[in-house]
Amino acid sequence: MVAGAGESGARRLAGWGFTGVTVPAPAALLSWLGERLGPGAPQQVRAPRLDVLPAARRLPPLPGEVSDAALDRLAHARGQGLADLLWLRGGVTPAVPDVVARPREAEVEPLLAACASAGVRVIPRGGGTSVTGGVNVLAGEAPVVVLELSRIAGLLAVDEGSSLASFGAGTLGPAIEAALAPRGLTLGHLPQSWELSTLGGWVVTRSAGQESLGYGRIEDLVAGGELVAPAGRLVMPARPASASGPDLRQLVLGSEGRLGVLTRVTVRVSPRPAGREVRAWLLPDWERGIEAARALLHERVSLSLLRLSDPTETAAALLVGLGESSFGSLARRYLRLRGVGEGCLVLLGAAGSAVHRRRALAAGAAVLASHHAVALGSGPGRKWLADRFRHPYLRDSLLDAGYASETLETAAPWSGLAGAHRAVAATLRESLAGEGERVVVLCHVSHPYVDGASLYFTCFFRVPVEPAAAVARWARLKRAANDALIRHGLTLSHHHGVGSWHAPWWRDEVGEAGARAIAGAAAALDPAGVLNPHVLLDPVDRLVE
Ligand SMILES: Cc1cc2nc3c(=O)[nH]c(=O)nc-3n(C[C@H](O)[C@H](O)[C@H](O)COP(=O)(O)OP(=O)(O)OC[C@H]3O[C@@H](n4cnc5c(N)ncnc54)[C@H](O)[C@@H]3O)c2cc1C
Repeated sequence: MVAGAGESGARRLAGWGFTGVTVPAPAALLSWLGERLGPGAPQQVRAPRLDVLPAARRLPPLPGEVSDAALDRLAHARGQGLADLLWLRGGVTPAVPDVVARPREAEVEPLLAACASAGVRVIPRGGGTSVTGGVNVLAGEAPVVVLELSRIAGLLAVDEGSSLASFGAGTLGPAIEAALAPRGLTLGHLPQSWELSTLGGWVVTRSAGQESLGYGRIEDLVAGGELVAPAGRLVMPARPASASGPDLRQLVLGSEGRLGVLTRVTVRVSPRPAGREVRAWLLPDWERGIEAARALLHERVSLSLLRLSDPTETAAALLVGLGESSFGSLARRYLRLRGVGEGCLVLLGAAGSAVHRRRALAAGAAVLASHHAVALGSGPGRKWLADRFRHPYLRDSLLDAGYASETLETAAPWSGLAGAHRAVAATLRESLAGEGERVVVLCHVSHPYVDGASLYFTCFFRVPVEPAAAVARWARLKRAANDALIRHGLTLSHHHGVGSWHAPWWRDEVGEAGARAIAGAAAALDPAGVLNPHVLLDPVDRLVE
């Protein structure tokens, strides 16, 4: 259900999550931003008008449930990227799909056939939480059907002996865990968007959950599945291993709805942990933090989560409450007395039995101690665990106060991590200098690997009240970021995907031959080019559309 007038507990249209849930921006954070950026211009949400939607164009008969209700069309027009929110909050009515289709699994094939032969575009949509323009309907196109997967959801089969479970691709995060819990199982894939995103969406965007260190990224969890395309069906049986040519799962992972509709997925599941625990420390500085993170990986400490914040993010995290414990200020004072600066927050998490958690965290603490860490106790970790799915609401409260927060993520080998952090942060900080605006840049490592780690940047900047000006400012920052990532040989995304907002730069990342290979696969599976045509392969900059 989507929020209409007066509904509460429904999904919010121009913001994160559910109506009735808000997370106010802490006053300390607002004044910290005010000092660094200047006063924000408070903004009110002006919902887009439903009465100005264009009439739905004529479509061929489509199988299954099809809706042309105005609120449905509006609610399926955009994703959850910053620009999407700036348009919707500003009252701008976006281009909308002609209809929203909710087929059952058997109806996907005839629906795609009908659309392909009539030249109707189809945007597959899971939870609509894309932050890369991946589900956006663009103006002036052929008719558009949003194919929403909510009816292709739920547990299909479990093979407990093999630790495998099959789900409809439209199953939301909480429904997956609810279906596995009675069997003592978990998937353990917990992206911050977990409450609103789907298994199929995770697979085709190569998602990473917060506990990727313990459970792996989604590509480690996918054992098999089925993709339906206008020109055929890719059936990928769950096999423990195979040397039978290229792995089709790797073609589907990251395909973002451009190659077909993922209808079912078989995942590798684990025993449900008896408990989860997160502990916090302060490390003297970012370089030593990176060294400590690398050491934890190389010593193969059995953790489920590692999160290392740079000094600016540490300062912000302490302001929003993670450091409320008196330990926080004591530890910072202790570090300052030792002349080692403000410190970097590190969170380590373990999931499993009490014995496993104790051992893993003790092993982690020993490695951190050899890098001069100061323990902050269990309070900050408990708070982080309790709030981890509430953090996205903060973005809306900050926008209310006139401050935007944009995130982007990349990855680098350990040897290049500090350099990548310096280069990208410097670009982001300077990206709005041309219009006399400052950008506060925060960063953390949250997905470490044996050979390197992700870098997740958050940028705060002031937004004008007028939506087109606000989106133009964001686009300036985003272009500078994309250019910098390519210039420094970094990936455009560690886990958000390409979507339409990275697509023109993606060609530079994968090279002409790489882009041609994927375009060839798209032509083979979708010869009429009707499936989500603006993701991956579209060379046009769509940031302000
Ligand atoms: C607040 C917030 C926090 C986030 N945190 C994380 C995080 O921690 N980790 C992370 O990895 N990502 C995160 N994301 C990004 C987003 O949630 C992921 O990209 C997620 O995988 C998208 O899933 P979805 O079901 O919402 O897909 P959608 O947004 O609906 O679609 C995303 C793309 O996949 C395609 N698609 C969706 N389902 C199918 C299908 N069944 N078949 C074919 N194509 C399909 C769409 O066409 C589109 O291109 C976050 C986003 C937000 C807004």
